[in-house]
Amino acid sequence: MNTDPCLPVDENGYYGNFGGAYIPEILHSNVEKLHQAFLKYIDDPEFIAEYEELLSEYVGRPTPLYHAKRLSAHYNTNIYLKREDLCHTGAHKINNAIGSVLLAKRMGKSRIIAETGAGQHGVAVATVCALMGLECIVYMGATDVARQQPNVERMKMLGAKVVPVESGNKTLKDATNEAIRDWCCNPSDTFYVIGSTVGPHPYPQMVARFQSVISREIRKQLKKQTGRELPDYVIACIGGGSNAAGAFYHFIKEPSVKLIAAEAAGLGVDSGMSAATIRLGKEGIIHGARTLVMQTEDGQITEPYSISAGLDYPGVGPLHAYLASTGRSEVAAVTDSEALDAAFRLTRTEGIIPALESSHALAVLDQRKFRPDDIVVINVSGRGDKDMMSYEKAQKN
Ligand SMILES: *Cc1c(COP(=O)(O)O)cnc(C)c1O
Repeated sequence: MNTDPCLPVDENGYYGNFGGAYIPEILHSNVEKLHQAFLKYIDDPEFIAEYEELLSEYVGRPTPLYHAKRLSAHYNTNIYLKREDLCHTGAHKINNAIGSVLLAKRMGKSRIIAETGAGQHGVAVATVCALMGLECIVYMGATDVARQQPNVERMKMLGAKVVPVESGNKTLKDATNEAIRDWCCNPSDTFYVIGSTVGPHPYPQMVARFQSVISREIRKQLKKQTGRELPDYVIACIGGGSNAAGAFYHFIKEPSVKLIAAEAAGLGVDSGMSAATIRLGKEGIIHGARTLVMQTEDGQITEPYSISAGLDYPGVGPLHAYLASTGRSEVAAVTDSEALDAAFRLTRTEGIIPALESSHALAVLDQRKFRPDDIVVINVSGRGDKDMMSYEKAQKN
């Protein structure tokens, strides 16, 4: 049975073969209670009104859908940028943080935990916890703590406790393991806010729902600006897949709209230094879901690599594994250097400095040929302030 108006998901959280909930016994009742609360409140007019008011008055939604004329002229097509970079805190992550923390409050939880890679999700959750007066603990790999100092300082100023994680290669995967461990030890008072469409059911569905506001706005804005509600293409980058899920959501059942997911190819898909999970991954289980996972022959998870900390993850949300395996979405593998080129191109033609993650989506413009009458929507998931050190380094080389 399908339990979502737009997602190809069944009541057990399966997208075809992918998804489900592979969790330790101690979390079963927690995850079940979360699922029930999600189903109850996602259709509750009072909950939705509170969520939508915060999106408009606090986050600054709707974000613009901007017709990038100089960029369009360069590529000889029609490019529209969905400006999630203009959300409060600088990325789409806050859409989900608000929805999830509101749900936590409804469930009577007083302690909020989260994992973070680049720090954008951690900052978003710390922000919402400050707004609502809740305790916030953020797990972050020690490598990321060192390379993302400005976001660490922001989280601390917001009152969150940042816990550096020293296991594995000390990045996002390891921070997620640690957050799950915390949740297992504190199942009754703690709510785990996951930052992407990953994890056990119902997280992928729930996060996609809280991000679906992106494509709801795109349809409305495109209709107003062009007379057409449906673009020819929607392009988004994928780490775990939440900004892409939000940008695709209201187009998944519209076969005329082509969906392109840009994943991080690092130094090249076959270089051994990438995070191109859909290209390279095999079916496996990571962080509670069956999905594509970068792994060795004997099932050891491979350490991923990308210049962009937000895409540096060896798994991908089950929705995207399914969309790609059925041909509903197309996957583009974008290298570090292609992403850097795209970032400089956007900055110099439109005066918008994108996040390194978003630059992977923009780089698809250099890989594909679009027709002069095509309408191409690109989701600019975040702003580039946090990436200035990488951009500065690239400029010197
Ligand atoms: C976290 C992040 C991403 C990657 O996460 P998804 O869940 O795949 O969207 C992409 N862009 C920005 C700006 C981010 O902060």
